[in-house]
Amino acid sequence: MQTPVEKERCTGCWACANGCPAGCISMEPDEEGFLYPKIDAAACTDCGLCRRVCPAARSVPVEGDVPKAYALHALDRELLEGSASGGGSTLLAQRMLERGGVVFGAVFDEAFLVYHGRIENMAELERFQGSKYPQSAVGDVYRQTKALLERGTPVLFTGTPCQIAGLRAYLARDYEGLLCQDLICHSVPSPRVWRAYLSELERAHGGRAASVCFRHKAEGWT
Ligand SMILES: Cc1cc2nc3c(=O)[nH]c(=O)nc-3n(C[C@H](O)[C@H](O)[C@H](O)COP(=O)(O)OP(=O)(O)OC[C@H]3O[C@@H](n4cnc5c(N)ncnc54)[C@H](O)[C@@H]3O)c2cc1C
Repeated sequence: MQTPVEKERCTGCWACANGCPAGCISMEPDEEGFLYPKIDAAACTDCGLCRRVCPAARSVPVEGDVPKAYALHALDRELLEGSASGGGSTLLAQRMLERGGVVFGAVFDEAFLVYHGRIENMAELERFQGSKYPQSAVGDVYRQTKALLERGTPVLFTGTPCQIAGLRAYLARDYEGLLCQDLICHSVPSPRVWRAYLSELERAHGGRAASVCFRHKAEGWT
């Protein structure tokens, strides 16, 4: 059974895995540790939905005028210092939670691997703050997003441009309650390489990492 798109064009966005009605697509690491779709041929009904929701399988025309650009940064010092750049993403997340909405974004698990988590209250926002450069595991959050939007719950979905393209292709229609926020992304490194690097540091220092920060501002933004 063919994957939705050839590997060279696949971004590992998980749209096919979320969209498969037979649940026969899993995301498996290749030899470099990047996740790619794998189809269970015995369970696949060849319905073609995985190809329809794949943002890399077809080009999406850019419609309308050049979008307006806004610049912002947080005024709260603590928020600013804990954020990767200007804290704009966290400000948007705060507003969404105040509206009673749900936020999805990249968080660490206990081994400092990155996955897409669901944030429902202000206390959890700290996990969401800050850039985690390895590729995040999306899991079933596109499905969760759709279920929330169908119930009328507003959602802020944050992620790389490839993930936002994956979500929008999976949803296949606009929702009034959906706010998508991507970031300038120069590409993501392999989760396996990241974990191997962290293990190497842990061995060298004879301990376990207690926290990880990819862009700390102790010596300024530069
Ligand atoms: C993989 C990656 C590559 C990047 N490459 C560049 C670059 O080349 N040039 C540049 O100017 N900026 C780049 N950025 C963006 C920059 O690091 C900041 O994330 C961005 O400016 C937002 O800052 P903020 O202070 O508003 O975010 P914060 O308020 O700190 O919030 C962090 C935001 O980043 C998201 N995020 C964190 N890690 C990931 C991840 N692994 N996958 C998806 N989303 C994630 C969170 O969901 C959240 O929305 C990159 C970010 C990432 C994650």
